[in-house]
Amino acid sequence: MDLHSGMPFWIVLNPLYNYYNPLKKNIKTHTVIIGSGITGALVAHTLCSLGVKCILIDKRTIGTGSTAASTAQLQYEIDVPLVDLIEKVGEKKAIDAYKCCLQSITDVENVFKAIEKDPDFERVPTYLLASNKTGKNLLEKEFKARKDAGLPVKHLTKEQIKTQLGIDALAGLYNKTSAQLDCYKGATYILDHYLKKNQLELYSHTLVSNYKETKSGYELVTENGNKIICENVVIAAGYEAGEFLPKKVMDLLSTFAIVSHPVDKKYLWKNRALIWETKTPYLYMRTTNDNRIIVGGEDEEYNNPLKRDQALTDKAAVLEKKFKKMFPEIPFVTDMSWAGTFSSTADGLPYIGTYPNKPNMYFALGYGGNGITFSMIAAQVIGNLIIGKPDSRAELFGFNRSKL
Ligand SMILES: Cc1cc2nc3c(=O)[nH]c(=O)nc-3n(C[C@H](O)[C@H](O)[C@H](O)COP(=O)(O)OP(=O)(O)OC[C@H]3O[C@@H](n4cnc5c(N)ncnc54)[C@H](O)[C@@H]3O)c2cc1C
Repeated sequence: MDLHSGMPFWIVLNPLYNYYNPLKKNIKTHTVIIGSGITGALVAHTLCSLGVKCILIDKRTIGTGSTAASTAQLQYEIDVPLVDLIEKVGEKKAIDAYKCCLQSITDVENVFKAIEKDPDFERVPTYLLASNKTGKNLLEKEFKARKDAGLPVKHLTKEQIKTQLGIDALAGLYNKTSAQLDCYKGATYILDHYLKKNQLELYSHTLVSNYKETKSGYELVTENGNKIICENVVIAAGYEAGEFLPKKVMDLLSTFAIVSHPVDKKYLWKNRALIWETKTPYLYMRTTNDNRIIVGGEDEEYNNPLKRDQALTDKAAVLEKKFKKMFPEIPFVTDMSWAGTFSSTADGLPYIGTYPNKPNMYFALGYGGNGITFSMIAAQVIGNLIIGKPDSRAELFGFNRSKL
């Protein structure tokens, strides 16, 4: 599957993690992680920290799947507003899911503190802006639901938004708990750390093309016919995990992003906050540590790479135009544009844990706009399950939560 088109900023910005080590023999290990994106990296961090012997396999160059295309904003807000999530899964589960995401931002931060590497992790606030009257009404209900749930949130009036951001919006929600990072750098930093400490074996350019269950776990077979015998396998294969699942659990979409030339700092808005709109298709924006602006959105309900490639130029122009309408005084010049595969689940929540009747195969599927915070949760839950420690989040995000 083509996971992105165009020029994802992060693989242009960072030196390629140029690691080439295809598996060339049969091996045996305790746990195999399939996928070297941010999910596989966070799972590797958790398992190595717990002392679980593991190897990680990827068919691509390390970290160059969706992780390289991510705009990498970390927020506690799930794609589905809390008021709607309560309708879908009930009040307790919805609030728990939101709180898990809030906690996982700090947990991601702590991973990088633990390995003493900084993937340009930056704490920033979030503004969610009402694009129209419907959005204003939604934000009023959403504010109350989040406040009642004890989540950090402030309601902002039209005038407050004008004063703080200098833009027109009917209302907004604000919180100071979000963050942003360079996700590609983050994934490669983690993997490099454990590789150098000899706590992780890493095999790139190795496609797992088949598998079968054994008495004590799994036998994985690579494209070249090598076998890997293991007790557990963690599927951190992102949007390509479908081949390990008996049934489809998400829809694949396309999403688009552009990044500007660096701009003078004086042009950037207050606190370099993340900005989102309630409108569909939504528009969102963030800054980078070299004062570029990333603008994303314009999602389409298709994942045909050809169609996506053809749409990219127009989509980039629309994103730039929408940004300039919001901030006409910022001299925004698009430097690069790209598109990526994206996905959504029916309730906006990830799928984490084992699939019914597939013991020892753990899925870490952080689908949706909170992919990275979900990956962090998945890493912790799966780590706990593998060492036999119960984790209540397994039920909240598990496959049994809804009819498949
Ligand atoms: C444009 C864009 C913007 C986004 N913005 C945000 C955001 O702001 N915040 C957020 O939290 N999330 C965001 N996301 C989502 C987030 O980026 C993803 O959830 C995350 O990158 C997924 O990481 P992953 O490691 O699960 O998948 P990937 O990075 O795709 O890694 C999976 C890896 O598995 C490997 N693999 C698959 N199958 C096999 C196999 N059979 N054998 C061997 N290897 C295999 C692949 O080669 C791949 O490298 C965004 C995504 C896009 C595209």
